[in-house]
Amino acid sequence: MGILVVPKGYHNPVVLRKEVPMSATVSLGPLYQFPGWIVNKVSISSNGDEVCVHLRSDRRRKGFRCPCCSRRMGKMRERRREVLDLPLGTAIVVHLAFTAYQGQCAHCGTIHTFKPSGIGFKAQGTDRLKRYVSHLCRFMPVDKVPGFVPISADTARRWDKQVLIATLPAPKLNGLCAILVDEKSIGKGHQYLTVVLNAETGEVLHLAEGKRKASLQGFFAKLTKKQKASIKAVGIDRAGAYKAVVEEELPHAKIVYDKFHLIANYNEAIDKIRRAEWRAAGEQDKTFIKGQRYNLFRNPENLKPEQERSLKELLAMNENLSKAYVLKDALKVLWTYKYAKSASKYFDKWILWAMETGIETLQKFARGLDRARDGILAFCKHRITSAKIEAFNATIGRIVRKACGYRDLEYLYLKIRQEALAA
Ligand SMILES: [Zn+2]
Repeated sequence: MGILVVPKGYHNPVVLRKEVPMSATVSLGPLYQFPGWIVNKVSISSNGDEVCVHLRSDRRRKGFRCPCCSRRMGKMRERRREVLDLPLGTAIVVHLAFTAYQGQCAHCGTIHTFKPSGIGFKAQGTDRLKRYVSHLCRFMPVDKVPGFVPISADTARRWDKQVLIATLPAPKLNGLCAILVDEKSIGKGHQYLTVVLNAETGEVLHLAEGKRKASLQGFFAKLTKKQKASIKAVGIDRAGAYKAVVEEELPHAKIVYDKFHLIANYNEAIDKIRRAEWRAAGEQDKTFIKGQRYNLFRNPENLKPEQERSLKELLAMNENLSKAYVLKDALKVLWTYKYAKSASKYFDKWILWAMETGIETLQKFARGLDRARDGILAFCKHRITSAKIEAFNATIGRIVRKACGYRDLEYLYLKIRQEALAA
């Protein structure tokens, strides 16, 4: 990274500083525009990697006036402060030094602190540095930020969170038509998150720990009666605790079992067949079947030529797997129908095909599908597509990595919202 590396030991206060001549100070003024404050002097460490910009209040001569009644304030309390600011030239460690003045107006009692704008009360850095850090966090893992700004990863995360809270628009809960509810497993400990998305825009509306009823109830608690009434359809997985909550909270809404979960369920059925075939196979075929798991799940267009060849071999070799695989493509066709009647006819046909295979796993799947018929065919009317869930699943892993974990759920929620809003 060349010069863009935070020098070691910058915390050491005993760094020799060399002052630059006045002409250089004057030209730095436009970079440090804090109304009511002027650059007094600039100190630079001998190796040029640390800078301190001293600001001076121009009110000192004219006297401080009360921001409320404009009368002259009396005696002020002074406090020296130094905060981190944006990098400057080769210097990554840049401090702004100034004296804050605090006093109480003798006339109206207002207490006011005079300090450069854009610097929080006890802040370690300027607001503009925090925005810069937040911007870095958009493109790099948070634990890489300390290589560019002299702060810890924890501070970077805290600042990013502050900036996101201040800048991200609140979720749009008015006029929702359709929502998707999904559970997402993250990390290795089988931790689950409940996610609610706007089915049309993909906006993340809610994120909660767990996959229980309460995880979803928290979302409905945020909605007004009117907001609830506008939701006409809810896309969910057949399994899980969400169905009961939706029926309770939105009795008028239609439940739609979306394609994404049904295909995932079907893949599980294929895997069950594959394992059964593996157990029945001879030694030589075993290794071959074992290696085919993901080829069976992938969309054919995503297979590399080599994977395609070995999948073909497998299907030619094994009749049951071949049948199951063909039926998977046939199942996907269901979602191409526009009209419920024709979709329903096709649905019947598919169930029949699955029963005719004679494969118990597929028959069981087909019976389950038949029981969920209403919820599946509801997609014709409500057109809830699973594209938003698939897109979401593709990005969440990346976001968790960038946020370096998910212990801070609120931060993760903000990062996911940021990503979804930018898309
Ligand atoms: Zn006053």
